[in-house]
Amino acid sequence: MIFRPKIWIKNVLEIDKEFLDKHNIKAMVLDLDNTLSMHGNPAAEIGVPEWLDSMRELGIPMRVVSNNTNKRVKPLAEKLGLPYCANGCKPLTFGVSRAIKQMGVSKKQTAVIGDQIFTDVMAGNFKGAISILVEPFHLEKTWTFRLKRKIESLIFKRDYSKLEVK
Ligand SMILES: [Mg+2]
Repeated sequence: MIFRPKIWIKNVLEIDKEFLDKHNIKAMVLDLDNTLSMHGNPAAEIGVPEWLDSMRELGIPMRVVSNNTNKRVKPLAEKLGLPYCANGCKPLTFGVSRAIKQMGVSKKQTAVIGDQIFTDVMAGNFKGAISILVEPFHLEKTWTFRLKRKIESLIFKRDYSKLEVK
């Protein structure tokens, strides 16, 4: 099913060598907002830079593909040392495809990781990659995001009630 993530985890920090081996993941396409950083926050979430370093040490190539603008994506992606693609148009697969091509890893061994079903998970599934859904680090307050979350929670029974709203 195109909406269903292959794997559902709490956040990227759960991904370690054991997880990568278990799911045969050799590369990662990462969403930015609410996956590596709170939406609009110029800094990454606590633990994310160290996690990225640990993935690099394992030799895992990574790219950011975000639907957000270059203005938002560039500073943080560069700070984190990650090649990136802004205006990624997920759930369309252009950005994800380009990232996978650049990393030179089979799509079947590439995880596409993000917090939104209608963009990240769908793009990963359309591409035939390993889709991984994470819970957002924080919930956004804007009504469009709230509406989207509401729809997601109704359809997929995602439970956001335990997450902190900032
Ligand atoms: Mg996101």
